Amino acid sequence: MAEASGEEYLFKIVVIGDSAVGKSNLLSRFTRDEFDHNSKATIGVEFQTQVLEVDGKEVKAQVWDTAGQERFRAVTSAYYRGAVGALVVYDITRRITFDSVKPRFSISSDILIFRNQNAAHCDTAVTRMLVGNKLDLESIREVTTEEGTELAEEEGMFFIETSALDSTNVNKAFEIVIRDIYEKVS
Ligand code: GDP
Ligand code: MG
Repeated sequence: MAEASGEEYLFKIVVIGDSAVGKSNLLSRFTRDEFDHNSKATIGVEFQTQVLEVDGKEVKAQVWDTAGQERFRAVTSAYYRGAVGALVVYDITRRITFDSVKPRFSISSDILIFRNQNAAHCDTAVTRMLVGNKLDLESIREVTTEEGTELAEEEGMFFIETSALDSTNVNKAFEIVIRDIYEKVS
């Protein structure tokens, strides 16, 4: 969903990754500048929209969050359909969540590398960002920055480390993805 109507752009972006890595909090930090200490499953909410300005143009980022289906690896293709951007999140304090990036990625890669249906943008590959979250928990880190950088390079993704708790790099993560999509379609 990279639609340009007049001066308006609408980009669908999906957030994927293991349970409890901070996906919902990254989204609430980005769209509402809020953090929730009690992890609650997002019920009934499919996506949230945030409007940004890129090069003087209005860009709407429609960011999709799972309602906990990732626990069962049951995220459906409807979730990915039409996405032009993806944030693939792990928790820097739990190596297991980093190890599952690759398998998760290959499961969904046929969906993520799909070409946008919109004829005008048929060569637009999905922009992907690897996100190491919970940077505020540096003292109990299990995954080094170098490992994140290497994996991202291997997969041809952007890479960033964030903290949804103290806001570090959260807006930047979304903005890099949104700007990259914008540059592809504009
Ligand atoms: P999701 O299952 O991937 O959507 O993860 P949630 O956003 O629900 O977060 C899971 C747990 O991690 C919650 O207890 C959050 O408060 C906590 N959490 C999320 N992001 C951060 C972060 O950047 N730093 C810290 N310290 N905790 C976080
Ligand atoms: Mg969640």
